[in-house]
Amino acid sequence: MAEETIFSKIIRNEIPADVVYQDDLVTAFRDINPRAPSHILIIPNKLIPTVNDIEGEDEAALGRMFTVARKLAADEGIAEDGYRLIMNCNNHGGQEVYHIHMHLVGGRPLGPMLI
Ligand code: 5GP
Repeated sequence: MAEETIFSKIIRNEIPADVVYQDDLVTAFRDINPRAPSHILIIPNKLIPTVNDIEGEDEAALGRMFTVARKLAADEGIAEDGYRLIMNCNNHGGQEVYHIHMHLVGGRPLGPMLI
């Protein structure tokens, strides 16, 4: 059984977070350390530690993460100019919180992806 992270507490509303969307499958909230004018984390309500742990049964939640990203980009007013969706995996990927999350980042030119 994977160990819970602070994100599970955010999902359950046990600690403060700027939650911008929640449904039966996913939760989205503003990153505590935003790297751009819009920086939102979209996560499955189910604890999946890394992208390596995704299973077939998770496809509905993962699909929902993308439709919520699209909706939130529109809500933030950044859809037309553009934005970036990022998922980091494990140490070399720079993952810090072991509950998968999609970063929705935009609101300024981000330039080319620098790897
Ligand atoms: P990672 O490096 O794992 O892809 O990104 C983790 C992200 O979670 C970071 O951008 C970090 O700022 C954000 N983060 C970490 N702890 C918290 C928290 O308690 N609340 C919020 N809103 N964001 C957090």
